[in-house]
Amino acid sequence: MNNTSQENDKKVLNNSANKKTFQSRYNNQSHRKYKKQGKTKNNTKTVKHGVPPLNDNDIRVIPLGGVEQVGQNMNIIETKDDIFIVDIGIEFSNTEETPGVDYIIPNIKYLLDKKEKIRGVFITHGHLDHIGAFPYIIDQLGYPPVYCGLLTKWMIDKRNSEFPHLEKLTYNVVEPGQRVTVGPNEMKVQVFHVTHSIPDALGYSFETKEGNIIFAGDTKLEHIGGAPIQLEYDSYGKLEHGDQKNLLFLSDSTNSEQPGWSKNEGAIIENIIELIAEAKNRVFLGTFASQIVRITAIMDGAHKYGKKIVLEGRSMKTNVDICIKSGRWTPPKGLIITADEAKNIAPDKLVYLLTGSQGEEFAALMRISMKRHPKIRFTSRDTVILSSSVIPGNNKAVRKLKDNLSRHDLRIVQYRTSDIHASGHGNQDELLWIQKTINPKFFAPIHGHHSMLRAHAQAVIERNNYPKENIIVVPENGSVIDVNRNSFKVHKAKAPNNMTVVEGFRVGDIQDVVIKDRKTLTNEGIFVVIATIDIKNGRLRKSPDIISRGFVYLRDSQKLINETRNLVKKTIVKHASHQKPINFDVIKKHVTDDVARFLVQNTGKRPIVIPVILGI
Ligand SMILES: [Zn+2]
Repeated sequence: MNNTSQENDKKVLNNSANKKTFQSRYNNQSHRKYKKQGKTKNNTKTVKHGVPPLNDNDIRVIPLGGVEQVGQNMNIIETKDDIFIVDIGIEFSNTEETPGVDYIIPNIKYLLDKKEKIRGVFITHGHLDHIGAFPYIIDQLGYPPVYCGLLTKWMIDKRNSEFPHLEKLTYNVVEPGQRVTVGPNEMKVQVFHVTHSIPDALGYSFETKEGNIIFAGDTKLEHIGGAPIQLEYDSYGKLEHGDQKNLLFLSDSTNSEQPGWSKNEGAIIENIIELIAEAKNRVFLGTFASQIVRITAIMDGAHKYGKKIVLEGRSMKTNVDICIKSGRWTPPKGLIITADEAKNIAPDKLVYLLTGSQGEEFAALMRISMKRHPKIRFTSRDTVILSSSVIPGNNKAVRKLKDNLSRHDLRIVQYRTSDIHASGHGNQDELLWIQKTINPKFFAPIHGHHSMLRAHAQAVIERNNYPKENIIVVPENGSVIDVNRNSFKVHKAKAPNNMTVVEGFRVGDIQDVVIKDRKTLTNEGIFVVIATIDIKNGRLRKSPDIISRGFVYLRDSQKLINETRNLVKKTIVKHASHQKPINFDVIKKHVTDDVARFLVQNTGKRPIVIPVILGI
């Protein structure tokens, strides 16, 4: 995913002041959890899930996440003796669907009693929706060896460094073209190049005895006017060799609904460098910190025109720093300077690379636009380039950012009117080209909401003339696909797939009802009725008390409150006076029902009604 992953990822990561507290509480939490179950961390436990055992001839593939959303990517490949994992990502929560939740992570219960079969974790690239859940999961999996590209290794280590309780990981850094042998049963895995918005993106072809199971992660193509460059043919066209055929390809669907070919990243970079070269004053470029390919290319381009770069925003600085330390990019000497040093440089030589193009409140771009940045102020001579699309859900924030920028009367260049942004995910024609080039026996669209997977499948059927019966549209996270050279089966029973969330210091399942309550509290408020009943005669001792939050302002709603009090009195008298002894549960239920009905009839709102009935 090429989005605000890193920008948004500040609740836990940026909060270094709380780091120690987080660690100790996190550890205590998991310690308590295991103690309660009567197990220690090293013991395995059996999880009931009703998934039938694997036939010796079949290969099992389970997407544990990423088929009902964009994010939370994690897949497992299981053979008789081995398990391989591809990606361990998070999904970012949003306040509308999962209020109060920081991240959603894959549910790994299916793996907990099979840990000894896990031979390796293969990571396609370093974006958080592919590596972000490492700190919450890798210890529970018993620290299997990790296979990934060089930059990806650095990104994982950076992510894990905020969680000092984790053991050091065992890495096997791999490169395109390499064919690695993994585990005691010597599974051959072909590593291949993938074009995405971050360097060192890799695909993996697991050469099982039934054929190749292929994952490419997030994909787009480098192309010239719809003609892929030779590198793409070499990557996707050479996975079959001898009798080793492509059996199942699981493919990115994020932009499957976008027609044609995506804009060529090379052209985008050229356009931006041209804008920078022509600028007579300072240029501020807001882009996703995850667009590392673009960021480093722009810095190289700016250098050619004698410009200096100021980096602002934590994730921007971190990602560039990782690129330099890992040796993936070496900045020309003196190119990157600080905001203080910039004060002595001519304005036409200055380029600022900033986070916050999605209007994030505390990111650099917004802070400068609101005159809250300690070192940088806009002038009307500046140019701001917004080199990013608006992620759905961020529209209001981006509008606010643009309004704030506009108040400075400066020049704004945005992607809708100029070719200055392309997604890291290929459009439909690119996905179809990849599918056709790999030409697998079976095909499964993954990485996306269900409608994106369907659109992808439909395009493959209609435009690639691919047989519908050979397509697996995975219905849900945890769906179990058993496949062999002749056929496949998607089981009714699923691997455990309850939503697993990170909320502050807690990691665990969350029940739908909790999310539902949070939504109601947010949208409708809460209404508490407190009544005291004389247990001898079932009468009220005094008029009921009412407390309400987020529903109506009590002082302005005396009529409604008095009527509610009368209703509560009536309800209690009606039901309590005949009971001996008084059944408080029955009374509570009647009060809840009657009050909720009365409130919705009179206000159209449905607050959570909580009766507190005391007997004396
Ligand atoms: Zn990505």
